[in-house]
Amino acid sequence: MAEYDYDLFVIGGGSGGVRAARVAASDAGARVALAEEDRYGGTCVIRGCVPKKLMVFASEFSGMPALARGYGWDMGEGTFHWDRFQGHMASELDRLEGIYRNLLKSSGVETFDARARLKDAHTVELSTGETKTAKTILIATGGHPVRPDIPNADLGIVSDDIFHLETLPKSILIIGGGYIACEFACIFNGLGVEVTQFYRGAQILRGFDDEARGLIAEAMRENGIKLHLGTNIVEMAPGGGDYDAVSGPTATDAAMGADAKQSATLMATRTGDGSQSVWVKPTSGDAREYDIVLFATGRDPNSADLGLEDLGIQIGRRKEIVVDAYSKTAVDSVYAIGDVTNRVNLTPVAIREGMAFVQTVFQDNPTAVDHELIPSAIFTQPEMGTVGLSEEDAREQEEVEVYCTSFRPMKTAFGGQNNRVLMKLVVSKATRKVLGCHIVAPDAGEMIQLAGVAIKMGATKEDFDQTVAVHPTMSEEIVTMKTPMRTA
Ligand code: NDP
Repeated sequence: MAEYDYDLFVIGGGSGGVRAARVAASDAGARVALAEEDRYGGTCVIRGCVPKKLMVFASEFSGMPALARGYGWDMGEGTFHWDRFQGHMASELDRLEGIYRNLLKSSGVETFDARARLKDAHTVELSTGETKTAKTILIATGGHPVRPDIPNADLGIVSDDIFHLETLPKSILIIGGGYIACEFACIFNGLGVEVTQFYRGAQILRGFDDEARGLIAEAMRENGIKLHLGTNIVEMAPGGGDYDAVSGPTATDAAMGADAKQSATLMATRTGDGSQSVWVKPTSGDAREYDIVLFATGRDPNSADLGLEDLGIQIGRRKEIVVDAYSKTAVDSVYAIGDVTNRVNLTPVAIREGMAFVQTVFQDNPTAVDHELIPSAIFTQPEMGTVGLSEEDAREQEEVEVYCTSFRPMKTAFGGQNNRVLMKLVVSKATRKVLGCHIVAPDAGEMIQLAGVAIKMGATKEDFDQTVAVHPTMSEEIVTMKTPMRTA
């Protein structure tokens, strides 16, 4: 009889956990089980990348009639029906969740629709009351959005809630300047919602190339988003009450707002038609009401209540499970991958970490995950694709040449629109290697995937120069920039 019930028990059925479970079972012949307390597919499939991208596509149609008219089409403005879109999106997510479940089943992974926590280094307790043992346990529980610590914060929604809104709001206030805040500001703006965004810092998308994020901020404003930099939320309360727009809510409203239960009811019954709005006082400017306030103020790892501390597994300052280069925790039989480890919080990275874990533990091939030169995209409008170092970070490191061009692309310029795109290469003066590539343009995410291959291979500026341009495209500029714009 086997010493343990399974070779591997995975906690969490998101992208990373499902991949690791599936590959360990099908490629390495391991006996595998997986527990998921919610829906299979995790953040990416159920409440992140996938539904977000569908919303990006939906929101882009609003700009198309105007462009089409520039090309000679007689085309009127259309009307967006949130309920129709939402129904279609919900069935697509059901379909994808079914695929995830089937993949596990066909790989021979036993699944438990239950919450799991560690009882000891080889034992998992399920919310069903069952106890299972495994030689190795993999934690892939992901993360969750967090609200700032201010009174009445539960009057605001987080990204998880967006996909369940009953109706589209007329106005929305978005707090934050990261990926989620900027992407949803553009999405809601495209869907016809009046969007205000507060970011506490000097420029949105902190950490990305200055020139690229500057262009995105400019375009967002030109597209109608009321972007307030150096601004944060100070106070919020239920709207629609007897309050003074400048001094804040009356005592009655404030007391009501302080009651968490009441706030939850308000949240649940909000219709999005403005009848249950939220009153907000910012650090600057006038207080006003918004139909919805969205907190896009970061995500925390789901490391709580897993029984980790009792086992001596280290939890870091940002609530992440601390792991080594092979994703192993302080306990030899327990590993962790994906957002719960807060390394690079992207779906394809969690999948890579899952694959490396299987190679290390089940295929006798210790594999550390390579977190260098990861291409990524921000699905703002315009989109940004980026890989490698920003100009600012590269300059800190060594002397660089910066090749950069910004222009009005043919398709939209002909259609009478003024938007600009940016193509930028940051090149090492010493080695000639391209250290960073930053593209702000429609479909920049598609372009950066391919530029990422060359840069990951160590391509030099001269390698780019020797590649013949594809004409006429926007991306041909990436191989035709002859003179550095700046050296530093
Ligand atoms: P980010 O950490 O990217 O951004 C959080 C934002 O909220 C920052 O602008 C931060 O400001 C601000 N903030 C934090 N705390 C407060 C506060 N108390 N008051 C006001 N503002 C605050 O988190 P996101 O939620 O946008 O995204 C989480 C992660 O999800 C990303 O890091 C990314 O890895 C992933 N993601 C990736 C996507 C993609 O690949 N396209 C899309 C969406 C998410 P400051 O800059 O000053 O700290």
